[in-house]
Amino acid sequence: MSVLDDLCKPEVRINPRKFKFCPRCGSRLEEVNHGGRIRLICPNCGFVFYQNPVPAAGVILLQNHNVLLTKRKYEPRANKWSLPAGFMEYGETVKETAVRELKEETNLDVKLTRLFGVYTGCDDPRNQAVLIVYEGEIVGGELRPGDDASEAKFFPLTDLPEDIAFEAHRRVLEELKAKVILEQNKE
Ligand SMILES: [Zn+2]
Repeated sequence: MSVLDDLCKPEVRINPRKFKFCPRCGSRLEEVNHGGRIRLICPNCGFVFYQNPVPAAGVILLQNHNVLLTKRKYEPRANKWSLPAGFMEYGETVKETAVRELKEETNLDVKLTRLFGVYTGCDDPRNQAVLIVYEGEIVGGELRPGDDASEAKFFPLTDLPEDIAFEAHRRVLEELKAKVILEQNKE
């Protein structure tokens, strides 16, 4: 079993954010075996804290076999590179998240062209994530890093930075590279 699989095991992932109190009544939460999983449960009001992965959306922007990456300004994984991506806000659609994150981090306006893939992210210390990645085309804006990105630039697929922030992003980039090479060979 890989380290990644271990990180995704629920007993390892219990309460990474160290929640202590019931959001409903304020009593101290307890770790209880509930239906075969350890969960945080409120002994006073019965509230069960179901800990679900958090969906995130990102965008692949390719220009002449160069892919747009952003450098993270903040922890976790500060100063490492990733695809422009971020967690969904409540009330947003997945596509709205992808477009908003790209705008915030790179100042580019994008039209999403198709779904690239869906990935499980187990190595973000804040949350287990479900990363939904689209391909897109630039329709406006000038490239400029913003929000939680300190840099935003295009990298050749054959010369990507080694310090990619998250495993799911590394997998996306590997698959993207393989796909582009395959398409090149067809031509
Ligand atoms: Zn409670």
